[in-house]
Amino acid sequence: MRISKVGGSLLTVGNVLNVIGRVVGRDYLGNKLVLVVSAMKGVTDQLIRAFDNHDPNALDNALSTYMSEALNLGLNDLASFLELAREELRRFINLGEPWVRDYVIIHGELLSTLLIERALNDLLGLRAKAVYEPGIVTDSNWGFASVNHELSSKYVIERVGGVLSKYDVVVVPGFLGVTSDGRYTSLGRGGSDYTASLLASYLGASRLTFYTDSGGILSGDPRIINDAVLLREVGYDEAYTASLLGAKKFHPRTFEPLLKSKVLTIITDPWREDGTYVVNNCITTPKLITLNEVGGAFRVSVVGCRISQVSHLRGEAYEIMASYDAKVINDDQHAVSALLNEWDDAVSLARDLHRWVRSWIA
Ligand code: ASP
Ligand code: MG
Repeated sequence: MRISKVGGSLLTVGNVLNVIGRVVGRDYLGNKLVLVVSAMKGVTDQLIRAFDNHDPNALDNALSTYMSEALNLGLNDLASFLELAREELRRFINLGEPWVRDYVIIHGELLSTLLIERALNDLLGLRAKAVYEPGIVTDSNWGFASVNHELSSKYVIERVGGVLSKYDVVVVPGFLGVTSDGRYTSLGRGGSDYTASLLASYLGASRLTFYTDSGGILSGDPRIINDAVLLREVGYDEAYTASLLGAKKFHPRTFEPLLKSKVLTIITDPWREDGTYVVNNCITTPKLITLNEVGGAFRVSVVGCRISQVSHLRGEAYEIMASYDAKVINDDQHAVSALLNEWDDAVSLARDLHRWVRSWIA
């Protein structure tokens, strides 16, 4: 059984059928497939704005994205349902309670699930079923809820596994959990990645594919490093450390459930054959650079499996950092980091370190 996660960056108006058709064409192969879906592009931001600013226009924008795509797909009967959803959410955005915020902002994923289930059945001729509440049980830390693995694995196997035995494709909304008293929670920004890896580990998937518009993990953020290259392979530890340090906007816990698993994980886009394979392997070379903001300062890191424990590699990184006014941090065995106060210095150090990283990539 495979799990494929479709990122919101790919789900744009006019393209949903194309993307889903391509993903199913690659991954269904007559086997069972679980599709974990994100909100369509921009929708979660709009829902957050709608709630935080009590802004009905932002809500209308979010809903009209789905309305347009439903009409594009000829699923005109969804219009009245979407209208009802809008009316309900309009009432909710005027409430101030924290649990309501989560309830509002996970609606992008719920609506993607609805739309994609219909597209799979009506337009692609598959036997597909949506499971809107897959059984990821969390605490009530609204906005960044923590998962109870013991309960969740039991419920996910029952609910998703149960439906999977009767259908070809099960569609599951990413990003959301539910408290033990039945209220929806959100797992934090980028949380659909985390949903997919939780499901892969609970259900024992043979393969987990993250479809995203960036096509894989790069050696650096292309917005600041213009010769960043796609990495063919990274280890789970490296992927985990990189996402903790903000790489590719993965949810920080994305790779946590996979660290000890046997799932083959691939990050790619629907049209390319290659991508980044995440493997159970530890090769101690510098792989990639991250740059993230921490408490008003900027942290630049070189990530590589156990890199901080190998003195000559650590030494080479320190040598590059030495020409900056930077405070060296050594708090993760898979990264060597520096903290800088100025953004421009941080960018410049990231570029210098990236040149060194590139010299290690064939
Ligand atoms: N839609 C959510 C977000 O934008 C979750 C996700 O896409 O992973 O953060
Ligand atoms: Mg994402």
